[in-house]
Amino acid sequence: MAKLGRELKAKGINVIDLSLGEPDFKTPQHIIDAATEAMNQGYTKYPPIAGFAELREAIVTKLKRDNNLDYKPEEVMVSTGAKQVLANAILSIINPGDEAIIPTPFWVTYASLVSLAEGKNVFVPCSIEDHFKITPEKLEAAITGRTRLFIFSSPCNPSGAVYSREELRALADVFVKYPDIVIISDEIYEYINYVGGHESIAQFTELRDRTVVVNGFAKGFAMTGWRLGYMAAPKELIQACDKLQGQFTSGANSIAQRAAITALLADLTPSFDMVKAFKERKEYIIPALQAIPGIRISAPEGAFYAFPDVSSFYGKSYNGQAINNADDMAMYLLHTGHVIGVSGAAFGDNNCIRFSFAASMDTLREGIRRLTEALAALQ
Ligand code: PMP
Repeated sequence: MAKLGRELKAKGINVIDLSLGEPDFKTPQHIIDAATEAMNQGYTKYPPIAGFAELREAIVTKLKRDNNLDYKPEEVMVSTGAKQVLANAILSIINPGDEAIIPTPFWVTYASLVSLAEGKNVFVPCSIEDHFKITPEKLEAAITGRTRLFIFSSPCNPSGAVYSREELRALADVFVKYPDIVIISDEIYEYINYVGGHESIAQFTELRDRTVVVNGFAKGFAMTGWRLGYMAAPKELIQACDKLQGQFTSGANSIAQRAAITALLADLTPSFDMVKAFKERKEYIIPALQAIPGIRISAPEGAFYAFPDVSSFYGKSYNGQAINNADDMAMYLLHTGHVIGVSGAAFGDNNCIRFSFAASMDTLREGIRRLTEALAALQ
């Protein structure tokens, strides 16, 4: 969608782009300074495959400080973005024919990686009625003798759903009965939380040794381009991922790693200020979307996406162009409304469109104006 948007922009059309999944803030200055210092100090050579010892230590400190999780440095590994963390984990865990349960809507990469590993994706539809969260009943119903993996994000991209401690406890009670299932808990939006404390499923001691906590620097520290993420997991999995990463890419960028130590251990105020800005925007955009006739929305509890259900417009049309699904709607909004969101179909949900609110208030207001007008024009 971003590419199509750029093409329209190149034709001189003014488009409002709400498709991107990245903070619209600059990386905090003290992190940039730490990177400059690292280069001057000579951190310009190959780093260890699993990451600098000091960074792994800093991650251990962070996991204890923020999540009350106890890990040793050898249970932590650093990679080129949370995306590579996921690739390492999924390719290490899934054998051909293994099943991975993924509640929908989900971040698209999970399913692609399971397919790459020749595993089978088992999608469990969770709609707006469930606030886009899987229930213990639905989870248990999806489990078979071949289930090897469960993958989810909290806060969730694209829905913004955040699992509470109680909700995670209820899922954990199911997993306890199935000891062969590994859980990938993608917590990359951890800091972008509007409902209070972040909870990790790894906190339940019965699950700790088969949970892979995935996190990174892209979202909470506005460091998308630095390409740095990490996992906390049992040592055996770290060893397997180390082997894989050693052949694919080796250690993640050494300069970014040094700066990340500062990101984790220095003042977190810039991250919290960014979250405050996202919260203000959320408080504008969610009621504004709710006010559009025909739209239904579950308010996000984290991340920076609105995920309205637009299915009540399906079957309508504009100038003979019928809107029958989320892809049609996203294309209509792009070409006619000049506002860009991402079709929910990309995330396994055909009823919704994802709009990022990591954009200025002026951009969001104009986006809402165009969306309102474009939807009202459908007959
Ligand atoms: N998980 C989720 C849920 C994401 O939204 C993203 C980025 N869009 C990632 C992982 C990947 O993060 P990174 O940029 O660190 O590779």
